Amino acid sequence: MGRTRPSFTDEDIMKIARPLPDYLVRRYQGWKATSYAENSAWYKRLAEGGQHPRAMVISCCDSRVHVTSIFGADQGEFFIHRNIANLVPPYKPDGEQHGTSAAIEYAVTALKVAHVIVLGHSSCGGVQGCHDMCSGAAPQLLEQSSFVGRWMDILRPEYENLPKGDLPTRLRAFEKASVVRSLFNLMTFPFVADAVESGMLTLHGLWNDIGEGSLEQYDADAAVFKPV
Ligand SMILES: [Zn+2]
Repeated sequence: MGRTRPSFTDEDIMKIARPLPDYLVRRYQGWKATSYAENSAWYKRLAEGGQHPRAMVISCCDSRVHVTSIFGADQGEFFIHRNIANLVPPYKPDGEQHGTSAAIEYAVTALKVAHVIVLGHSSCGGVQGCHDMCSGAAPQLLEQSSFVGRWMDILRPEYENLPKGDLPTRLRAFEKASVVRSLFNLMTFPFVADAVESGMLTLHGLWNDIGEGSLEQYDADAAVFKPV
């Protein structure tokens, strides 16, 4: 085991997990007795058949973003990867551990999804944090030890291109820029570019207004987001 905080031995750490809180146990038991019980044959088929999702979705960790609800999707339909601000880093095969890149590689080369959808959203805290960092309002995010700050460096190049105007306008533009930057970075992965070139894969950019329930998609020719 690796180094841990001094007050915990490795042995302590191995015993750190606790039983679920009651409210989650009750919710699980409710699901098992209703949704699962009514569809158990379908679940068994899902388990035996393996997964064959048609689309990968890259969305924010934000708990209000709910891509399966928006599209009425069932289990098995979307291969979903979530991270802070729905960002795709540039292709960087340096031998380090890259969770987002691993998910993209698996979706495109093993699952051979037909679509990769990047889904941004309104009032994104990650994007706001990046704006604060770039404008000097959040020096803590500039620290080398800030995982959020270093992750949001992916979006930093877009800060210079933001429109003048009030903060809400700039943040909305920044949220959409996070989608466009991710689409751009996706194409730096050779296996993504190859799949797109051969017509096996299409890329899509979306932005969801949580309060309005609206969805906009990126029109690459016009370089603007338009209502779906
Ligand atoms: Zn977010």
